[in-house]
This record gives sequence, structure tokens and C-alpha cells, in this order.
Amino acid sequence: MKQGKIIRVSGPLVVATGLAGTRMYEMVRVGKLRLFGEVIEVRGEEYSIQVYEETEGVGPGDPVFPTGEALSVELGPGLIAEIYDGVQRPLDVLSQEYGNFIVRGAEKPALDRNRKWHFVPKVAVGAQVGPGDIIGTVQESKVVEHRIMVPPGISGKATAISERDATIEETIAKIATESGEKPITMMQKWPVRQGRPVQRKLAPDVPLITGQRVLDMFFPITKGGTACVPGPFGSGKTVVQHQLAKWADAEIIVYVGCGERGNEMTDVLMEFPHLTDPRTGEPLMQRTVLVANTSNMPVAAREASVFTGITMAEYYRDMGYNVALMADSTSRWAEAMREMSGRLEEMPGEEGYPAYLASRIAAFYERSGRVQCLGSGERLATLSLIGAVSPPGGDLSEPVVQSTLRVVKVFWGLDANLAYSRHFPAINWLTSYSLYLGKVDEYCDAKVDARWSKVRSEAMAILQREAELEDLVRLVGMDTLALEDRLLMQAAKMIREDFLHQSAFLEVDTYTSLPKQIKMLSLIISYYHKAQEVLAKGVPLAQITKIPSLEGIARAKIVPEEELNKLDALEKQIEQELNALNKAEVK
Ligand code: ADP
Repeated sequence: MKQGKIIRVSGPLVVATGLAGTRMYEMVRVGKLRLFGEVIEVRGEEYSIQVYEETEGVGPGDPVFPTGEALSVELGPGLIAEIYDGVQRPLDVLSQEYGNFIVRGAEKPALDRNRKWHFVPKVAVGAQVGPGDIIGTVQESKVVEHRIMVPPGISGKATAISERDATIEETIAKIATESGEKPITMMQKWPVRQGRPVQRKLAPDVPLITGQRVLDMFFPITKGGTACVPGPFGSGKTVVQHQLAKWADAEIIVYVGCGERGNEMTDVLMEFPHLTDPRTGEPLMQRTVLVANTSNMPVAAREASVFTGITMAEYYRDMGYNVALMADSTSRWAEAMREMSGRLEEMPGEEGYPAYLASRIAAFYERSGRVQCLGSGERLATLSLIGAVSPPGGDLSEPVVQSTLRVVKVFWGLDANLAYSRHFPAINWLTSYSLYLGKVDEYCDAKVDARWSKVRSEAMAILQREAELEDLVRLVGMDTLALEDRLLMQAAKMIREDFLHQSAFLEVDTYTSLPKQIKMLSLIISYYHKAQEVLAKGVPLAQITKIPSLEGIARAKIVPEEELNKLDALEKQIEQELNALNKAEVK
């Protein structure tokens, strides 16, 4: 067997010679312990290898073994509810066997080889099948049906297929291809740095409904869209992520955690497995795959983890699911890239990050999308990507954030000051944006409520005007404001407190349907319109801003979804009360 020889070791980077024929991104085994590594640079005779485990004790002269395979993940039943490290080694299995720290060189397959799954065929013997076609299903968890697909590159007639219990390595079908009969198993392998093929990409213009009012109404993301969220400490980032994982209308969640401080990841490992899926009452893990890099793992694994995660996410998308991947934090991922680049002595770009930082980040987000899956049956599916960034000192002008903002379409500006003043979710409505707004407006105007885009634009204009007025008030005081402006300030306060404030912990408030969202916001906007009207006719502001039904607007949040007609009634009542004031004035 071919074997190379180490000439240099620098932390997670090992340089070896004697590997002629080994390719870029090929997996190799390093040293006597056979540590996990990947070729990331070839310069003449010298092969630079990024090692995914501690390289202590590895030195010049030690052997390197090529494997002939690219860094790949295993795909098949058994991924759901699993917790993996950055190179898809199951954390729980490893910790059972080796204790809490992964023993170096430990080799554990990602998918359980012994577990039997009940395979139910979806095609009959004799059927013509091709890449991506679903030939059968397996109930993977209580809530996820795993669809077994013909792997890319194989097509022909199904010659044998039947219902049975099988492991992922046993043959569950045979396909007669032009180059002979091919056995099909329930497991595929796929190189992580290569996107899985789809039939075609479609514009991502259907909203990913989250039930979070500030997101759905003001800064929507679409199914197959991309978003970036900065997370200053204590700004409510974890709560936002949990809310998305629980409530977004995606069937599968992949969560990639790249932690720095030890406890960042422990939080995820401790919390996620205890979340309950509000729709099924089952643990959320029943439709989740976790990838976790704890701080005792080397940086190189962090670099790989994002690709490991997205490849698994693409695999579920290929089955026809809406998948949402959250990566936290992509800044730590970029730092891992920087560290490796430094060791490779590459020419540094901005702030020491490699020159390819931007293209690497873009390559990740480009794997999002709404697609028609490979295979027959016009299967549509989506992969949405939400990346958290944690720039040092909260500085949004630094390269990772800037490279990210160039490619993502949504920015949710989590704001430590808002969190400090207990405005939750602490998403700053002045700095956040969504480039999907136009498409989502079209969708919501047509499918939810014809007032959607108009009411939202007006509400936004009020909030923006409030910010300008606030500057003025700070200088000269509230008393100098014109009456109309004071009314606007009241409307803005209502939008903030009665609409944007949303408690993640109150059952009736934690999720708001789109029809309820638009009714809630319409209440405020139609109050504001009518109030402007009667104010112009001379009704005193003090009376307008004290009508009894304003109490109802404040309580609209807690009106149950089944009783939304109460909000329609309230809208009429507001109008009546303001009309009555007007009449009294005229008399
Ligand atoms: P971070 O992860 O950014 O450090 P967390 O997500 O843990 O912050 O949030 C900090 C605290 O803020 C939470 O414990 C909770 O009390 C409060 N909080 C955050 N978001 C909400 C929300 N949507 N509703 C109510 N409270 C919230």
C-alpha cells in the first residue's frame, strides 16, 4: 500500500512527501495513530494536510496513508437525532465507548451498521428508475419518513425490490443498468465540498413562515433563502434560533455549532436535545441533525463542519423536504480558515483572513435554494441557510460580516441595546433588511390579506419617522412637537410594544399566524389613520389617545388564533369611538 512520509508538523497542519497521485481534498490517515486528515494544498512534491485531530506526538518521518476518497459523509437512515462532530463522527457513540473525549484515530462510522430499518418499496419490479427517484421509504424517526433514492449516476430497470428489514449495507433493490446489475443499499456517500446535484433551481420566493412577527412581517426570509444574524452576547440569539428551529415551516433542521469557548457548544448540546417540537409534542431532535464542534476539537474540524452539515441538509432536501440549516457561528468557522491559511503561509488578505474568504463564504450560501429535485415526479424542495456571525467587538465592518452580507439576502440586526431595554426579539428594525420583501409581499397580498404590503410599508414609515423625531425630541423636548407628530409617536410606540414585542415564553404569543399578524398591525394603522382624521378636525389629542379600545390593541397578542374575528370587531369599535369624539366636537 502506498505510503507517504511526514516532513513537517505545524499544529493541525502536516506536510508530507511521497504521495504522488493523491489529489486535492483527498482523505488521508496521518501518523501511526492514523489520524483523520484531508489534503488541502499540493505544491510540487509537498502535500499539505489539514488534520482533524490533535497532532501531538506526530512528527517528521511518520507515515501518511492515502485513502483514495474525498472527505465525504455517509447519508442514509440514522442521521436524524444524531449528534456529530465536524467530520461526521457520532459524538454520543464515541463518548460511550471512549469517555467524553474522543480518542485520537477513533474510527466510528457515522451510521449504525447493525441497526435494521423497515424498508417499504415505492416502485415495483420492472419499473424504470433513474438518479434521485424514490424507490422506497423507511420510518426514520417518529416524525421523519426517510426516502430512499437511487444514487446519482445509476439508472435502469428495477430487477429486485421488496419489503424487508435491512441494515444500511444490505441490498434492498437491484437495478439493471447498461453496465450490469447494480445492488442498491440505503446508504450513499457524498464528498462534502461538492454540492449535490438538482434538476433545476427556482427563485426562492415563497416565505419561510416563522410565526415571529418582526421576521415574517418586516424582514421575511423565503424557503430556500439566506439570512445572516449577528449575535452580541445576551442579545437573545439563542432564543431566536430556538424559535426558528421550533416554529419555522421546515420539516428538517440541521444545526451546525462552531463554538469557541467551551460552554458555547455545551449550551447547544445541553439545550437542543431537550427542546420539544410544538407541533408534534415530540422532542425536536426527532427531525434534527446536530453537528457540534466542542472547543477541545482542533480548528480544522470546525472548517469542515459547515460542509458536513450542509451536505446532510442537501440530502434531505433531495428527498423533497423543506430543510433549514443554522450555522452558529460562521465567524468561528472563518477563524478556522484563517488559522489554517496562516499555517500554509498563504498571502493574507484583510485582517489576516485568506484571500479566498469571500468566495468560500459565497460557496457555502450558494448551496441554499429552492429546487426541483433530481428524479421524476416534479419534487420541489428547499434549503434555507441562516448563519450567525459573531464579529469581535460587534464590529459589522469586519471581513467575515461584510463577505457574508454580500451574498445573503436578509440581515436580522440583533441589538444588544434593545435586549438591554427588554425589547424582545431584539431585532433592530432600522438596521435590518430583507431583499425578499417584494416577493413575499406579492405572496402575502395574494394569499393572506390584500392589505399586507400596504399596511407593512406604512408601519415601517412610522417607525422610521419616529427615529427622526426622537432625535429632535432629545434636543428640544416632546412639548415642541406638532400634534400630528405626537400622534405618530404614539402609533410608533404601539407598533413597537403591541406588535413587535413578542414573548417566546408565552404560549399564546410565541407563534403568530400570518392572518393574525396582519390583523394586529392593521388595528394600529387604521387607528392611526382615523386618529389623524379627527385630529385634523380639531378633536383634542388627549382624548384621541385615550379611547377605551386602545386597551384592546395592547391585548390583541393574547387573542387566540381561533378568535381572530374579535380583532375585526375591535377595528370597527376603534372607528366608532373616534367618530363619536368627532361628533361631540362638532356639536
Ligand atoms: P444570547 O444567546 O444572545 O446570549 P439568549 O438568547 O440566551 O441570549 O437570551 C438572553 C435572555 O433574553 C433570555 O434568557 C430571555 O430572558 C431573554 N429573551 C430573549 N429573547 C426573548 C424573547 N423572544 N422573548 C422573551 N424573552 C427573551
